[in-house]
Amino acid sequence: MPSRFRRRIRTAALVVAVWTLAAAIVAGAVPDLALPDDRAPRERTRVVGAVHMHTVASDGSGSVDDLVDAAIGNELDFIVVSDHNSQLPTRYEYRRGVLVILAEEYSSPRGHMLLLGMDSVRLGEPDSLDLWAQQTAHRFTEEAQLTFVSHPSGKRPWRDRTLSTVDGIEIWNADSEWRNDGVVDWLEALTLLPFRPELGMLALVDRPAENLALLDSVLPQRASRATCAVDAHARIPITRDVLIPFPSYGLTLALIHQHLSLAEPFTGDAEADAKRVFEALARGSGHCSIGVLGDARSVRIDVEADASARSREVRVDLPAATRDARIRVYLGGVAAHEEVTNQLRWATREAGPLRVEIDRNVRLVRRRWLPWVVTGSLGDARMDETPKPESPGEP
Ligand SMILES: [Zn+2]
Ligand SMILES: [Zn+2]
Repeated sequence: MPSRFRRRIRTAALVVAVWTLAAAIVAGAVPDLALPDDRAPRERTRVVGAVHMHTVASDGSGSVDDLVDAAIGNELDFIVVSDHNSQLPTRYEYRRGVLVILAEEYSSPRGHMLLLGMDSVRLGEPDSLDLWAQQTAHRFTEEAQLTFVSHPSGKRPWRDRTLSTVDGIEIWNADSEWRNDGVVDWLEALTLLPFRPELGMLALVDRPAENLALLDSVLPQRASRATCAVDAHARIPITRDVLIPFPSYGLTLALIHQHLSLAEPFTGDAEADAKRVFEALARGSGHCSIGVLGDARSVRIDVEADASARSREVRVDLPAATRDARIRVYLGGVAAHEEVTNQLRWATREAGPLRVEIDRNVRLVRRRWLPWVVTGSLGDARMDETPKPESPGEP
């Protein structure tokens, strides 16, 4: 018996050793995915940050300073920290050059929402389960400068699919991304994680199809905005007292970035600069990107309306060195145009909300198209063609 047991241990150790060696070889062979720096001068009105993260004040494992370390490591201009139900006014500060917005993720049985720019201390819990969606969410929409549904299709889906009580949704949530993958994706991720952790995380990122479908279904009725969240915790609980600090803040903040085009550059005053971030988010001026797939700071996506021709032109400019990008334009929720290029000009005379998605064709263990950049609804031209959202019915 003992000898058979020893044989099994030896076989298991051999399998692990062979797997580890093979994984090291495969992971080492994945080329660098970063785009060659196009050395374009940085514009002061273009900023990049990460949205939605937790500290020890709720269910994260680190401090605000740990998050600032991760932000500096990823060259981010701002972070939005969002501990659960802090019931505090939003606070603003600069720490080591990073704009830190201390906001809140409000968790309720009806779903989770980011409350940005709450000026006063909020007291009291939701009135009742049935009244929550009508009353509390409406109240927050009045009190906060911006409200976004967190992980609208994730572990706690948002119940109100008309999005009538919020300004927008998270179209990407990194914390949902690694929970929804199949065996093949996980095998690829597990091969890469020990040796190239950032690529292992990348293997678990998918096009957020459900959230984009939700946004597309709502846009003809109301100007719902899009943001993207890292939802960083750096914490996997094993038992009540034991946790694994994974994926680290540094890894998660590298994954999903919020790019914004500000009306005016940052001033150095934390509160004034946070207002600029909120204003750009409210205007829908920016895009989300998967940071591991390349710096999307110099990606330009605009819609120009030509009133005399009654048409709109979508313009996308990628760094000149981009050779493997596929640009898709969505009109009214349908893929209307697709091109493999680093510069796109496409005009339409049809009405309807416009969005852009950009994929890159890269090889991890497998070669495939991975989502790189996603926008919400582009431009204001659409606003003139759709009815104004009705004001929420006050209880
Ligand atoms: Zn949440
Ligand atoms: Zn969260």
